[in-house]
This record gives sequence, C-alpha cells and structure tokens, in this order.
Amino acid sequence: MDSKSSPVEMFFFPFVGGGHQIPLIDMARMFAAHGAIPTIITTPKHALYFQKSILRDQQSGRAISIHTLQLPEGVDLPETNMSAPPSTDTSMLLEPLRNLLLQTRPDCIVHDSFHRWAADAIDNLGIGIPRIVFNGNGCFPRCVQENIHRFKPHEKVDSDYEPFQIPDLPDRIELTKSQLPMFRIRHMNGGDGGPKRMHKPDEKNFGVVVNSFYELESTYVEYFKKELGNRAWLVGPVSLCNRGVDDKAERGRKASIDEQSILNWLNSKEPNSVLYISFGSLARLAPDQLLEIAYGLESSGHSFIWVVGEIFKSEGKTDGNWLPAGFEERIKESKRGMIIRGWAPQLLILEHAAVGGFVTHCGWNSTLEGVSAGVPMVTWPITAEQFSNEKLITDVLKIGVKVGNLEWASWSTEPTAAVGREKVEVAVRRLMGGGEEATEMRRKARELREKAKRAVEDGGSSYKDADALIQELNARRKPE
Ligand code: UDP
Repeated sequence: MDSKSSPVEMFFFPFVGGGHQIPLIDMARMFAAHGAIPTIITTPKHALYFQKSILRDQQSGRAISIHTLQLPEGVDLPETNMSAPPSTDTSMLLEPLRNLLLQTRPDCIVHDSFHRWAADAIDNLGIGIPRIVFNGNGCFPRCVQENIHRFKPHEKVDSDYEPFQIPDLPDRIELTKSQLPMFRIRHMNGGDGGPKRMHKPDEKNFGVVVNSFYELESTYVEYFKKELGNRAWLVGPVSLCNRGVDDKAERGRKASIDEQSILNWLNSKEPNSVLYISFGSLARLAPDQLLEIAYGLESSGHSFIWVVGEIFKSEGKTDGNWLPAGFEERIKESKRGMIIRGWAPQLLILEHAAVGGFVTHCGWNSTLEGVSAGVPMVTWPITAEQFSNEKLITDVLKIGVKVGNLEWASWSTEPTAAVGREKVEVAVRRLMGGGEEATEMRRKARELREKAKRAVEDGGSSYKDADALIQELNARRKPE
C-alpha cells in the first residue's frame, strides 16, 4: 500500500453464524463510514445474506466491497442458514485466504476468533499484516471468564448451586458452578476427554476490536486493558450503523414475516406495552419449554411478539405440541400476541416505541441491541457466556430481572424445560407491570440508550476509538 494519505484498507473475515457474522458485517460498514476501505472476505454462499446492504452502502458512496473466496470443486462449508454452531470447521478457507493476503497485503485483517486456524495461518505468512481479533463479546464477560480461569473460585464451593464470587472485579459478581460452561469445568479439573477450552491464548495479535462502548462498562474496559493486558478498540454498538428500514428488516437474514405487518401491529399498541421474546440465532428450545413460555405469557396478561426459531427435535420425534390448545387463535382474536416462526427483524421491533420489554437469552448482540433501544430486559441465559452477560444486565446496569435459569446447557445436548411457567409469568409481570422497580429500570435503560447513541456520533467514545485505530494503521505504513 502506498502513501500515508490514501484511506486504510481493512479486511474483515467474519464467522459464518448469526451472532458473529452480523456484528462484524456491521463493523465493516461502520469503518466504511469512517472513511476506511473495508473488504469483507466470505464465501459466495454467505455473501447472499448481506450483499444487499453492502450494495446500498456502495450506492451511497462508501468504498466497501465483498471478496468471495473460491473453494475447490466439491469443497464447501456446511449450509448454516445463519445458525452455524461455534464448532463449525472453516479451515477449507485457509488456502484461498492465504493467497488473497499474499496478493493484496491490506493494512490489517480483522478476523473472528471462531476461525480457529486463522491466527496461526496469518502470522505464519510472515508478511506483517496487523491481525486484529473479534470474538463477539463485551469486556465484562471477558473479565468474568478470565478471572474464573485465573482464580478458579468455583473450586472452593461444595455444591453446584452454591454461589461463589468472582475475585478481583470492580463489582461483586456471583455465579454458581451450574451456570459455568461444562467444558470449562471439565477442562479445569484436568480434562476427561470432553470438549476443551475453545480458545488458546492469542498473544501475537495487534489488538482486539470490541462491539461495545466505554460508557456501558467503563470499569471493565479499564480492567480488560490494564489488568488483563489487552489492546482494545471499542467501536460499538455497531448495530446503530443500520439506519434505514431496509437494513434493519433484512439484517442477518430476510425476516420470515413482512415487516410492514409487524409495524402495523405495533403501531396499534400503547407505548411500552409489548414484550419481545427471542433466544437469538442458535438456540433450539425443547417443545415442552416453549409450552411453558406460552402458558407464562398468556397468564401474564401482557402483549407480546415471540420469535420461535428452530425447535429441538429428539431422535424419531416430531416437534410435539408446543402451544397450548387454542393459544394461537386466542392471541390472534384478542390481538394480544404475535408469533414469528423463523427470523425476526429484531432491530425494527426493539426500536419501536410500543416495545417496553425484551425477554432475551443474553447473547452479547441482543444485550447490546436491547441497551441501544433503551428497553429493559427479562434475562434468560442458556449457554456460552450468557450467564455472565445476565449479571451485567441485572446486577451491574440494573436494567433487567432474571427469569431464574440456573442451568448452563451445551449447544449440542438435548435441551430441557429448565424454566417453568410460573417463573416466566412472575418475571414478565415484574418487568411489564409498571411498578416502581420497572420504572426505574426503564429510566436507566433510556439513559443508556442515549449514551450508546452519543458513543457512535462524531466526537463520541466509539467514534474516537474507530478513528484512532484507522490513524494507527495509517501511521504504520512505510513511507514510499
Ligand atoms: N437476530 C435477528 N432475528 C432473529 C434472531 C436473531 O435479527 O430472529 C439477530 C439479533 O438481532 C442479533 C443476532 O441475531 O444481532 C444474535 O446474536 P446474539 O449475540 O444475541 O445471540 P446468538 O445468536 O449469537 O446466540
């Protein structure tokens, strides 16, 4: 690359699943708005999920593009439909990526940590391309995870349900062993052939980019940088780069329902009266868990939009009866609820004034999207680092109530109906019932929404961090 004044060329290499692919595409688009030249590296199949929004950016004059890696005849990634589990092997992309980098030598490559082979492959090229890592998470859950790993506080409790405090953090954060990833417990106890730590330490990266903003988790940002020694640029919430209805309606995937019918339904509702329920791009709930949710929602008496993604099918069984008799007819007739089977336009829904609560599995993106929309939450973590995120929402930010799930579950095991209908009803009433506690949570959530918006505006903390990274990459260029 040549002179210091030409825009920096940044490659983005997203993973192939919803919760990782979506934010990294948004991030590339956000860097384009900052004047960088981003190229998104993907396969022809995965480009289909986001090429329309890139085209719109190009039409508005942004220098962003997509580069599709060509795979040998007969070799391909599995069809992921936005729901690729973190274990999906993408290593068939290694050779085409290597060749591309050798030919093009961009100013940096931002890669998802779920491409587990990518760090070594890029470093081993020996051509000094700064490698920046994206792992999908915020600073808070990383600090929690790192200190569990460093101090092993779970080894000091006798039972799976006895709370232990995570040492050395700015706040008192407690978890139970039952809420920790099984793979971690097994691994720390010496390993038993079960799944191992998902990431080996990555010491050679240039730094990490984080989809978060300083004001959300400032003490943890400091801790992450100073105590844990990470170079980090916080550039989020990246979802806020989606300004038009088209981008919001087709983010990740085309929604399973026409967005106008959702908006019409929401327009007919009072402000803050509707609850939105979603478990993200990956969760496969058991039919009997869905049944408990349906009963809980119905007896809470509040209006709702409920996204039901893939349903877990036990071997040899059908979906089962996951709705109480007559449920759909009743909610349709009373206009009390809407069920979306498949994929919802989450940003459009969350940002609507009628939406006053979000039942979330606490995926990092959903957490941040709830914050950016100023909506308080019912937290229902299931897997990955979602139990840590729950603590941020309920115990640190105080913008949510826990549904009360205590059981961490792996993506790959058969799910159970871990949370009963009474718990669902109680949590929904607490959040949507208009009491003092809920009003205060809503006030705090609104405050955070304003901070999130300011962070990505000119002069805001995330805006400055994005510019700082661009400038640093520019300064690294060798004079001609
Ligand atoms: N999402 C969506 N519609 C859906 C389900 C998910 O738009 O019906 C988006 C959601 O807005 C978020 C991402 O998919 O950006 C899910 O990421 P998150 O980190 O919340 O959870 P994960 O899917 O990784 O478990």
